[in-house]
Amino acid sequence: MPRRERATFRLLILGGTAEARALANSLADRPDVATITSLAGRTRAPKRPAGAMRVGGFGGAAGLERWLETNAIDATVDATHPFAAAISANAAAACRRRGLPRLALVRPPWTRRPGDRWTAAADAAAAAAQVEKLGRRPLLAIGRSGLAAFAACTDAMFVVRVFEPPDETPIPGAEVRVSRGPFDEASERAFLRREAVDLVVTKNAGGHAAWGKVAAARALGLPVLIIDRPPPPQPPRVPTVAAAAAWVDSLVAARRRAAAPFTPIRRDARR
Ligand code: NAP
Repeated sequence: MPRRERATFRLLILGGTAEARALANSLADRPDVATITSLAGRTRAPKRPAGAMRVGGFGGAAGLERWLETNAIDATVDATHPFAAAISANAAAACRRRGLPRLALVRPPWTRRPGDRWTAAADAAAAAAQVEKLGRRPLLAIGRSGLAAFAACTDAMFVVRVFEPPDETPIPGAEVRVSRGPFDEASERAFLRREAVDLVVTKNAGGHAAWGKVAAARALGLPVLIIDRPPPPQPPRVPTVAAAAAWVDSLVAARRRAAAPFTPIRRDARR
C-alpha cells in the first residue's frame, strides 16, 4: 500500500540512548504513529522502549536503505549517541537516497564552567597520549569501545567503569567496576573518593545521565580529560525529545492533509 494511504505513520527511531527511549515512550499512546526502535545490540539487557524494537546492524547504508523500503518506513529520527558517527552517516545517506524525512536528535554537549579543570582531547587516542601526564589513578568512564586506545598506558593504575562485565579488559592491570548509571553527583563524589581517583576521563556525552562524574570532579577539584565529539550528524538537528516529537507531529499532520479527499466548493455555497 502506498505510504500516504496507510492509517499509521511508521517511524524508525535509531536508538541506544535515553532520548530515543523517551521519544518512543512519548509516542506510545498515538494510534496514528507506529514506532520501531533500532538498537545495535551492544548491551545484553537493554531497557525496552515502548513500541516495536529490532536489534542488530543493517549492513551499512545500503542495508539500511533496503530495510527502510521493506519495512515501509515513513520517516527516521536518528537519536543515537553523539559518538555513534557511523550509523548517523548511514542514516543520512540511506534516507536521502530513499527521499525520506530524517531528523537527528542530538543532545547539547557539556560546556566548561568556572572551577572546571578540563583538558580536551580530539579522540580516545589523543586522550591516551596525555592521560599519564595528568593522573596516576584515572577513572576511565568512556564505555567499552574506546578502551583499547589506552592499552599501552602501563604507568597509570586505571579504574575502568563499564555497564556490563567485559569479555576481557584490553588494559593490563586495570581494575574493572561494573555498574549501571545514572549516577548522581553525590554518589559520584563518594565513588571517586573511595577509589582514590585523581583524574576523570570521559567523552563529552552531554545530557544528565553521565553528568554526575563531571560535577563531582569539579566539586573535588579533580582534573577531567574530556574527549571531544566527532562531527555532528547532518542537519536538520534538534536538541530535545519534545522538538523531535513536534517534528513527527508535523509530518503526520502534513500526510493527513495530503490524504484528505478534495472537496470542491459548490457554486451556490459561495453566494
Ligand atoms: P557506530 O560506530 O556509529 O555504528 C557502528 C555500526 O553499528 C553501524 O554501522 C551499524 O551497523 C551498527 N549500529 C549502530 N547503531 C545502531 C542502531 N541504533 N541500530 C542498528 N545498528 C546500529 O555506533 P557505536 O558508537 O558503536 O554505538 C552503537 C550503539 O550504541 C548506537 O546505537 C549508540 O546510540 C549506542 N551508544 C553509543 C555510545 C558511544 O559512546 N559510542 C554510548 C552510548 C550508547 P551496520 O553498518 O551493520 O548497520
